[in-house]
Amino acid sequence: MFELTQNKIHDEKRQGEAFASLALSGLGQKKFYIESYGCAMNFADSEVVASILLEKGYGITQNFEQADLILLNTCSIREKAELTVRKRLTEFRKVKKENPGLLVGVLGCMAERLKSKFIEEEKLVDLVVGPDAYRTLPALIEEAETGQKGVNVLLSREETYGDISPIRLNSNGVTAFVSIMRGCNNMCSFCVEPFTRGRERSRDATSIINECKDLFENGFREVTLLGQNVDSYLTNSPSTNGEVVITFANLLEMVAKISPLLRVRFSTSHPKDITDEVLFTMAKYDNICKYIHLPVQSGSTRILQMMNRTYTREWYISKINRIREILPGCGLSTDMITGFCSETEEDHKETLTLMEYCEYELAYMYYYSERPGTLAERIYEDDVPEEIKKRRLQEVIALHRIQSLAGMQKEIGKTAKVLIEGNSKKSDNHWAGRSDNNKVVVFPKTNNNLSKGSYADVVITECTAGTLMGRTPLTP
Ligand code: SF4
Repeated sequence: MFELTQNKIHDEKRQGEAFASLALSGLGQKKFYIESYGCAMNFADSEVVASILLEKGYGITQNFEQADLILLNTCSIREKAELTVRKRLTEFRKVKKENPGLLVGVLGCMAERLKSKFIEEEKLVDLVVGPDAYRTLPALIEEAETGQKGVNVLLSREETYGDISPIRLNSNGVTAFVSIMRGCNNMCSFCVEPFTRGRERSRDATSIINECKDLFENGFREVTLLGQNVDSYLTNSPSTNGEVVITFANLLEMVAKISPLLRVRFSTSHPKDITDEVLFTMAKYDNICKYIHLPVQSGSTRILQMMNRTYTREWYISKINRIREILPGCGLSTDMITGFCSETEEDHKETLTLMEYCEYELAYMYYYSERPGTLAERIYEDDVPEEIKKRRLQEVIALHRIQSLAGMQKEIGKTAKVLIEGNSKKSDNHWAGRSDNNKVVVFPKTNNNLSKGSYADVVITECTAGTLMGRTPLTP
């Protein structure tokens, strides 16, 4: 089976990925090693961190045994994510023993959640830096080099790192993530993010457009605009002295206009915030991909209210109907949690029937894991036994598998416009890329005019659950 990593927002295959850029590996006397966990925003933040450190003369390595500084950019969304990081830290102990000058730093959401407690709990750690404090990293490193522990977990209402050009790490040279906002003002009762990422703030539109133009000029052909809640994007236009307000729909249009050859994706949308204006803008531009990640979390209105999602099952379904009306054929993906506090079999059935209705192409499915400090931890009892949470999750996964395979089969016989991202992982004689609606497509290299970054019209001939296979019209 051919496969290409899905363009996921929380991509399991990328957890713990060590970043490096070969072009930069020889630079700098001191070397840092960075490993990332969590969502795409965390991965994008690692690129900002790399940029800050390279600016200060550091080089980058993909081998932690050669590093002077090891950084783990962490995630707190589930207990399992935190345990993985704790386990990983123990593996650095031996290297630190052999090289006492080595510094170990913890960045990201886990750093923000645990603050200096981290240093007390993990003696090995020299630096604890929250997501809004990366500019202070060089000063904190200097402090740590003198034997002090460096901690900065201040959250900011302004920081967007808008002026920092991220260094593209592990890039395929075709697709890139661009942060457009940070933080989240929604207080979903199960989520740590308001405490780890702070309040919402939007990045200046000019710096976003400049970054996207720059990427396009450097050969990139797809940008994914990233934020915890992109539909809340709102800034004032600097060219009108702040008189004109720029919404997310306006921003999408501005990015789409850079070039018809630049594909635009975005994530994540909140069902309560995605507007008709956004949907009509998507319909207007061929290069805005017809694919929306619209996390629902549960199919039961009662559970949704306890989760503080601020919409009902009916409201969510009406949004799906509106998307299908304005954007026929638009791909949909979601997040789903099973076994939230007090969830009954009846609530669970409502989740299954909602999934049947929505026919998601992709779903990120988890069973509920209570996180310290969240509203749910404070006011609800985590009372669904783990085996029930897990059984319900299996039912949700089984249904999703059937639906996603059916979704893939529907593509057979159609022609997909594919942006080529590189060779297929399984064969250098095949290209791999993605369709407009975010499906991985693999096809033989029989058309000599194509290369990485080209678009190809591919007739889909067969599929597996994760990949479409096809041929270009010139393929015999
Ligand atoms: S806690 Fe949330 S915002 Fe932080 S890395 Fe994990 S998924 Fe991303």
